[in-house]
Amino acid sequence: MDKTTELLKKLTEANGVPGHEAEVRSLVKTYLEKIGDLSQDNVGSLICTLPDSPEAPKVMLAGHMDEIGFMVKHITKEGFLRFLPLGGWFDQVLLGHRVLVQTHKGPVVGVIGAKPPHLLDPEERKKVVEKKDMYIDIGATSREEVEAAGVRTGDPVVPQSDFAILANPKTYLCKAFDDRVGTALMIQTMQAIKKDGSPNRLVGVATVMEEVGLRGATTSVDAVDPDVAIVLESDIAGDVPGITEEQSAVKLGKGPSVLLYDRRMIPNLKLRDLVLATAEELKIPLQTSLIEGGATDGGAIHLHKTGVPTVVLGVPARHIHSHSSIIHREDYDGALKLLIALVKKLDAETVAGFTG
Ligand SMILES: [Zn+2]
Repeated sequence: MDKTTELLKKLTEANGVPGHEAEVRSLVKTYLEKIGDLSQDNVGSLICTLPDSPEAPKVMLAGHMDEIGFMVKHITKEGFLRFLPLGGWFDQVLLGHRVLVQTHKGPVVGVIGAKPPHLLDPEERKKVVEKKDMYIDIGATSREEVEAAGVRTGDPVVPQSDFAILANPKTYLCKAFDDRVGTALMIQTMQAIKKDGSPNRLVGVATVMEEVGLRGATTSVDAVDPDVAIVLESDIAGDVPGITEEQSAVKLGKGPSVLLYDRRMIPNLKLRDLVLATAEELKIPLQTSLIEGGATDGGAIHLHKTGVPTVVLGVPARHIHSHSSIIHREDYDGALKLLIALVKKLDAETVAGFTG
């Protein structure tokens, strides 16, 4: 396993649902503390500034370190946990999956309970079970047993899924590629620029609570006050059965992507064009993506003060917002190469040219 694969494995296997990012944050810290000066905003986003960067334009790289999950909402007297979602879950991907309840006494394994097919009548089989009717079973037979295990209402619940390298060894499967893939890109770009230098002041941010409304991006952009921003995200690969080209033309293994549109942001056009031109120069295949049903940290970042030229780069992932998403290593490597080259181009003159 090379360094990049190991980084992706560690980051995706770390736990951190919105508002409960401590575990993943301390892991990200172990990488960033070797690179630059660390600080935090007051909601927990981690900010790393390269120490010897000149007082040139400030470039913010942002990847969110939270992942979608749940929170314990209620413990029934029979010993089952009702839960609320943290982030956007599709009801159909939940039943039968393992989760980890993070309690003050340590992690407790559970499963999102599903009725066995033997007990479903024909009408029931056709119906989609809604989240509100689901429960987590930790194997308890009473509320007292649940409480004895340390579970309390408000406890965070994380999907359980191990990192795996698939039959095509360039494809990786795990939870949380959304957006540990962006966190990894931020870390590795910071490492490269620390070594090579850049004509700007580079600030890497691992934001929190993106999945519940871009909250850490809203606060960290105030702390950083950037002149330009690049948001690093997982994108939605549409190359699976049931998705038309029109819905998503983004394919796994066909390169990183640049977002031309999402629900909360239209990128700065000159910065977007610089991304396209840089990819062409370096012969990195670059896909374009339009997401009508989602947003990124860019939605908050580009509206900071009087506005910040911002663009979103993506690594396509299949099955995002589930327990098991899949990415392609070449897409990740392409994104990293493109990102490093882009950062090196962001000098005072270029950045000034993005506005006006
Ligand atoms: Zn995301």
